[in-house]
Amino acid sequence: MSEHQWLSTQNIRINGQRLWDSLMAMAKIGGTSKGGCNRQALTELDKEGRDLFVKWSEEAGCTIKVDPMGNIVARRAGKLNDSTSVITGSHLDTQPTGGKFDGVYGVLAGLEVIRTLNDNNVETDHPIEVVVWTNEEGARFSPAMIGSGVWSGEFDLEYGHSREDKEGKSIRSELERINYLGGDNFAPNSVKAAFEVHIEQGPILEIEDLQIGVLSGVQGMNWYDLIIEGQPCHAGPSPMESRQDPFMGLTSIMSKLYDMVAEFSPWSRLTFGDIKAEPGARNTVPERLIVAVDLRHPEQQTLDEMEQQFFNIVQEVAEKFGFKNNIKQEWRSPAVLFNQECVQAVRSSVDMLGYSNMDMVSGAGHDSVYVSKVVPTSMIFIPCENGLSHNEAENAKFEDLEAGCNVLLHSMLKQGYR
Ligand SMILES: [Zn+2]
Repeated sequence: MSEHQWLSTQNIRINGQRLWDSLMAMAKIGGTSKGGCNRQALTELDKEGRDLFVKWSEEAGCTIKVDPMGNIVARRAGKLNDSTSVITGSHLDTQPTGGKFDGVYGVLAGLEVIRTLNDNNVETDHPIEVVVWTNEEGARFSPAMIGSGVWSGEFDLEYGHSREDKEGKSIRSELERINYLGGDNFAPNSVKAAFEVHIEQGPILEIEDLQIGVLSGVQGMNWYDLIIEGQPCHAGPSPMESRQDPFMGLTSIMSKLYDMVAEFSPWSRLTFGDIKAEPGARNTVPERLIVAVDLRHPEQQTLDEMEQQFFNIVQEVAEKFGFKNNIKQEWRSPAVLFNQECVQAVRSSVDMLGYSNMDMVSGAGHDSVYVSKVVPTSMIFIPCENGLSHNEAENAKFEDLEAGCNVLLHSMLKQGYR
């Protein structure tokens, strides 16, 4: 009975030291003097990292597939070999001043799951696969998450291949050059469930002093350009009360928006990332302000409501001050709700293992965002020091890395039997 076989795996734990050693060995490839990593997508160093992953996976008895986007799949056979697989994975590429754990942890934790299953002679029903997604960071080639994006059908292959770096080198030509332009078939319909373990890249778990984040989804985000038009005039002769100064409108809008967003705390987010004043002279009241606004919330309905209130506030202030205003929608990424069964697999694994935890949503993009559009998916977070990521000082604790990997192991085992 499969149920019985699954129960017999409950005492298995991963090897934390082996995971740590693998992370440190991978970190040497592209290692920086400040202790970080610069291993950008499809560079010579990325090839070295990929080669090392392939070598380790083959040593662990896996077969290797490479798809046309250069996504690598290391497969550990199951009893039902023509059946769907349970996958995990993340990315090996880094930011130019990246850390040792972002993405890499998710890949090597997957490998550690396979090594642990080997150590314990566990034979799952469904095959287990670890995926290295191409160009997650988007640092060298834009957009980010292009490997998982093409795989899930968000972008077509031609678009993926045609993305170019600053020097005009395309993803396709660089895949060819480093010998990772594959032709193997790896499609969403071959996957039963997907998991990804990642460092949080934010401070919440550390502040709460908890080891594991059980992710229920990913924040929805809306980007806008807020344009406020006033009347330019001389900074000296023009009395304050006769001005149509767009900054007066903006400051009013900003304080009202901060108050509005506070009503939707703790998960609402509002950021004014950039303000451009035109014509942009010290002694002239600007004619026009262009303000970059980023609005986020994990629940789509709440995000929609925040958006409506944002529109109302801007309208109201514009009428009061007599400004012209215009809100341009720049980009929308709807909130993602992960698959309930996969979330439950993570939650019950955390409970079984006894780690302190909380439910949370991701504020950053991950390969799982695209993967979750086509297969049942969920994610696991562990704390990182001071919430720091995309930074050479990025750090995570041995025991948290170990805990997250154990949760990944048991989440996958839960889905790995019939
Ligand atoms: Zn990442």
